[in-house]
Amino acid sequence: MLAVVFTVWRFGVGPGLLASILAILSVRFFFLAPQYTFDPGLMGNEALRRFLLYGESIFLIWLLGSAQRRAQERSRRSEGYLADAQALSRTGSVGFTAPDKNMFWSTETYRILGLDLRTTPSMKKMLERIHPEDRAMACRAFYCVTEPSEAIEFEHRIVTEGGSTKHLRICGKAEQQVEGAVRVSAAMMDVTETRRISASLRKAQSELAHVARLNTMGELVASITHEINQPLGAMKLSANTGLRWLNRDTPELEKVGASLKRVSENATRAEALISKLRNMAKKGEFEAVPISLNQIVSDVIELLHGEANERGITCVADLDTDLPLVKGDEVQLQQIAVNLVMNSFDAMAASLTHPRQIVVRSRNRADSVALEVADTGPGIRPDMQDRLFDAFFTTKSHGMGMGLSICRSIVEAHDGTIEAFNNELGGATFRIALPVRSTETLEPSATSRPTTFNAEARIG
Ligand code: ADP
Repeated sequence: MLAVVFTVWRFGVGPGLLASILAILSVRFFFLAPQYTFDPGLMGNEALRRFLLYGESIFLIWLLGSAQRRAQERSRRSEGYLADAQALSRTGSVGFTAPDKNMFWSTETYRILGLDLRTTPSMKKMLERIHPEDRAMACRAFYCVTEPSEAIEFEHRIVTEGGSTKHLRICGKAEQQVEGAVRVSAAMMDVTETRRISASLRKAQSELAHVARLNTMGELVASITHEINQPLGAMKLSANTGLRWLNRDTPELEKVGASLKRVSENATRAEALISKLRNMAKKGEFEAVPISLNQIVSDVIELLHGEANERGITCVADLDTDLPLVKGDEVQLQQIAVNLVMNSFDAMAASLTHPRQIVVRSRNRADSVALEVADTGPGIRPDMQDRLFDAFFTTKSHGMGMGLSICRSIVEAHDGTIEAFNNELGGATFRIALPVRSTETLEPSATSRPTTFNAEARIG
């Protein structure tokens, strides 16, 4: 019987069957009377009964053995597939029970941790691998958990034997077991490569955003020069007037003072314009600070004042004064607004029938703040709708097709959304919505105006 069990277990179902038949025949031949014959017709009743009983037992053992063998093969196969999937997705599994902390690591976990497969899994070794700066946090979040928890999700770094750092993403849960212990298990994903790629993508995107900003600036230089020339001209005029009052036989000091005040005011205005320009050209990291979208709208309308004037376009600011602040990078959000307004300018260039008008709106919505740019251009063709935000999609002969794609990545980096739709009365609206992260609302200031108003800044 043992030989049958061993053959099924070691060599499989077929050889097991052969071993079973041989065992039955040998029992008949060697042990049951009359011996040394295979003929069951010559056996007495008692011997025949024992022979059949033996045969049945062997058959049963063969059946059980083959079932176990098949289960083993199935489990080996699924373990193999699981190991392949873990290796391909760079995801290991890790688990332990609390409070005794008996650990389990899958083969891929060993590879991720850079440990030999003969190493006995232990919490001490695991914690030793974790980056010292992340150890306390990782311990709190997963490795020292003793209470049931539905969703555990976080990232931590480990330092391998060779000193290199890896980023791991842990997704797990802690479950109460019937016997009282808590079973803590998780998938451990090596996201080092993904992080490296997204960092270089972000860098490339930021370079591209910078180039696009300079490109936009190039287009704006002429009109902005005009903007700066205005306060410079006014300063010259006021200075000359002041000098004339001063050079009189009896100098009119009060009027000299008024002229100097105008010089100073215009200098401040020119300075503000230059600083906005410098900000736009600035190439920097994302810096999240509380920002007023109303301020962004006012700044952008001021910046594009000359350009709109030249193109015969009316710009209308429709600001919601009860607007919470959003958190973000001022220069990047300014860039979005400039891009959207410039696109509207371009879209309306071809439209001769409609009045050329742009409305830049800010709105306080339930859980977000929206900035909208609506124009009276030709609107968005249905076949363009799905591709508007794709990189390099452009219908302009000299377009780069990067403006809206960059706008979308900036908005997404701010956890916001961007959408485009056609207006009922013609033209298109581009809307960005940003989450409200601060409960502060705008202080009434020089830039805030009566609740929802139409401040028409007609240019020209
Ligand atoms: P570019 O301005 O270089 O073409 P964008 O990504 O900014 O790149 O814009 C992509 C395309 O989206 C434009 O070429 C244009 O066809 C379309 N588009 C953008 N804004 C508008 C708008 N306000 N009205 C109609 N079409 C628009």
